[in-house]
Parts: sequence; C-alpha cells; structure tokens
Amino acid sequence: MSDAVNAFMEGIIAKNPGEKEFHQAVREVVESLMPFLEKNPKYQKAKILERICEPERVMLFRVPWVDDKGQIQVNRGYRIQMNSAIGPYKGGLRFHPSVNLGILKFLAFEQVFKNALTTLPMGGGKGGSDFDPKGKSDNEVMAFCQSFMCELFRYIGPDTDVPAGDIGVGGREIGFLFGQYKKLRNEFTGVFTGKGRNWGGSLIRPEATGYGVTYFAQEMLATRGDSLKGKVCLVSGSGNVAQYTVEKVTQLGGKVVTLSDSNGYVYDEAGITAEKLAFVMELKNVKRGRIEEYAKKYKGVVYTPVDPKLDYNPLWNHKAHCAFPSATQNEVNGKDAANLVRNGVFVVSEGANMPSTPEAMKTYIDKKILYGPAKAANAGGVATSGLEMSQNSLRLSWTREEVDQRLQGIMKAIHAQCVQYGKEGSFVNYVNGANIAGFVKVADAMLDQGVV
Ligand code: NAP
Repeated sequence: MSDAVNAFMEGIIAKNPGEKEFHQAVREVVESLMPFLEKNPKYQKAKILERICEPERVMLFRVPWVDDKGQIQVNRGYRIQMNSAIGPYKGGLRFHPSVNLGILKFLAFEQVFKNALTTLPMGGGKGGSDFDPKGKSDNEVMAFCQSFMCELFRYIGPDTDVPAGDIGVGGREIGFLFGQYKKLRNEFTGVFTGKGRNWGGSLIRPEATGYGVTYFAQEMLATRGDSLKGKVCLVSGSGNVAQYTVEKVTQLGGKVVTLSDSNGYVYDEAGITAEKLAFVMELKNVKRGRIEEYAKKYKGVVYTPVDPKLDYNPLWNHKAHCAFPSATQNEVNGKDAANLVRNGVFVVSEGANMPSTPEAMKTYIDKKILYGPAKAANAGGVATSGLEMSQNSLRLSWTREEVDQRLQGIMKAIHAQCVQYGKEGSFVNYVNGANIAGFVKVADAMLDQGVV
C-alpha cells in the first residue's frame, strides 16, 4: 500500500480511535482514490478527502422507555449526518445490539458514495440504536420507537434528512417512527421512506434492495455474455434483502440453495422455490421465528447451527456459481472467499453493507471474478427510496412496473459508471469504479459550494 494511503489512515485512526469498521471502510475508499487524486490535484488542494471523512454532524442521545413489566430501559440513539453536498442526508436506521458509533459512521460514509452512484440527489447519513427488537412485544417496540423519535424529530425533515429501514427496522418500526414524527410536528410529509403502501410508501421499495442486487449481478454476467439462468446461488441472511434476492434470482432462472440467520443456516439442494420463500417470509416477517424451522418443514434440508470455534462460515463452502451475502458486515472472510472461488463461485453481488473483509475482497480481485461491492450492488434500495421521495413530492404514486423499470435503469447506470471508472484492460475493477465514480460526483459539488 502506498505511503500516502498509510499517512492518511494514521490521521483517521488517531482522530477516530476504536472505530475499526469506520477505518476499514475509509481505507478501502482511500486505496481506490489515491492514484486518481494524484492525477487530479484540485481535489487534494481543496482537502476534499479530509472533509468527506469528517461527518457534518453527529447526534448521540438517550432513549429511555418502559417495558411490558413496567421496568425502565435505557438505550442509546444516534444519527450521523455525513454529507449533504448533493442532497438531503439519506440513509437507514439500524436497531441491533452491536450498534455503536464506529459501525454507524462506516455505514454513513458508504452511504455518501452509494447515494451519489444512484444518479439521484441524495446526501449520506445513517442512524440507529443498540436496541434489540428481537424477543420484544409490539408494544415494547412501539414504546422504544416513540421515545427514539422524541429526540430524532429535531434533526430530520423531508428537505433535511430522510431516514429509512436497515437491520432490525422494517415496516412495523417505520410505522411507529413515522406516527410519532407526525404527531410531534403536526405535518404529514415524506420524512421517511419504506412507508406503508397506503400512507405514502412506494411500490417495489420493500423488494428494491434484493431486486437491485440481482439486477446488478445480471449486468455483470452480461459483460461475459452470460446470465443467471441455471446458476446455483448462495444467499446469507433471511431478512428483507435476502428474501427479495431469492425472489428475483428464482424469477430469472437461478436456484438459491442457502439462507441463514444469526443462529445458523439451511442448505436446500432442491432450491428455494416461490412456495418455500412464502414460508420464509411468514416465518421471518410475521412469526419472527428462526430459520431452523425451514429445515423442520421441508424434507432433504440440512440445518447447520453456528459453530463459534470455526474460523470460516460453512455456508460459503458449497458448490455454486454466485454468492449474495445479505446479512451483515464482515460475514465473508479470507478463508470463506477462498472456499467460494474453489467451489466455482465467479459472481459475488453484495446485498449487505461491507460483508466482505479486505482479505476476501483481495481474493475476488486477484482471481478476477465478477465482484459487485455493496455500495454499487445494493444501491437499488436507497435508489427506490429516492423514487419514493419523488412520488411524495409530486403527490403521485407510480405503478409497480414504472418503479421497477426505473430501478432497472438505475442499476444499469450504476454498472456503467463502475465500468467507466474501473476498467483495467478487459477486467472491470468494480471496487475502484464505484469508489471513484461516487467520489467525483460528491467532490465536484463540494468544490462548487466552497469551504462549508
Ligand atoms: P433484516 O431484515 O433485519 O435482516 C437481517 C438478516 O441478517 C437477518 O437474517 C439476521 O439474522 C441476519 N444478521 C443480522 N446481523 C447478523 C449478525 N451479526 N450475524 C449473523 N447474522 C446477522 O435486515 P436487512 O434490511 O435485510 O439488511 C441486511 C443487510 O443489508 C445489512 O447489512 C444492511 O445494512 C444491508 N442493506 C439493507 C438495505 C435495505 O433496504 N433494507 C439496503 C442496503 C443495504 P437474525 O434475525 O438472527 O439477527
């Protein structure tokens, strides 16, 4: 790695101690950008890189609430407003016990580049809490969401900052959060995306991230004259992104053989059909059960619980053509990536944010497989959030077909930008492509707007 990257990272680490996911996300971008910046000194002169790594604003607040037993609980809430050069801050809320400042800063940082790639006018932000919705009653989730919003409402708005869902925040949570915002502000505005269909939500928004990840894989395959038809696919997670990835891959002729949650994974050699996916959706979205139930319901399915002693994830060690990591950050390590490649995987399209460790990414690029990094591949979710914002502003609802067409067009445009900036001979380095293309759009806006 170049001295310039090391020197820059020393400053980031000193300024943001202990935030290892943030360091990882910044390092990846800086490694892509440094050669480009050396050829384009105007960005260095204006200290764009230093400015883009510093959040415009960070909010950290207490969230007290009362559980069903009458006990007071205290969680911590956050909102990171990372960059507003090209539009209002935009990015999801994550409710998970692992949430901390470093994780949300990495997500907000990634979001800046991702949102720029969508071609839509959205800045980058992220937020959330260490609250764990798992095992909580609907009433407890509502009590938490209302208390969270009692503070967050001061900082958000349809022209300021527009949150959405992420891990642990789905339709139920968005409903409670939006309801409380509306009560506090006494106004009905497009302050959230991922809203219910009959109160301002866009068709296809729930599907958008998974569909987009699949469209991106299809675009990458098309560069080699290939398609998803007949491809065996590994998917991790079993939440929003995983579910709609399975749906679209299956519709396009692929066969998905795995799904997981934090307790373990299922391997279904026969493939997860539309009927089996409907069972998963009911299990995860309504009953809020565990993926192990899938193996009890269907014959020939193998369930493997998580083994903390293993230094690799056996889900990534099956014969397949494509992999769609769709659970969480750093879920594919160097050993997993080597297993993927050895088992025939030549397409990785990332649904989760930063699911591959730096070692895993190096393996994909060294082996020259088709690797779509998260900020390009999973941008369909936020892009459709952008389309929801447009519909709210127009006070119109587009049809399912119209939104899906626009989503497909956006995924093609993101792919084209990656090719434009990432072409290395006959190989496309989508990591460099996504990082440089996203940077240029935001950096040029920052240059235009002066030192703010
Ligand atoms: P979700 O509906 O809450 O589902 C998350 C899934 O990942 C669940 O199966 C969960 O299992 C699993 N998971 C979460 N944390 C885990 C951990 N530490 N170890 C193992 N498994 C874990 O969330 P989602 O919206 O699908 O988000 C999944 C990923 O996609 C995240 O990285 C998110 O940032 C990214 N993403 C989401 C969107 C979107 O539109 N929703 C857009 C872009 C990117 P458990 O139920 O056992 O926790």
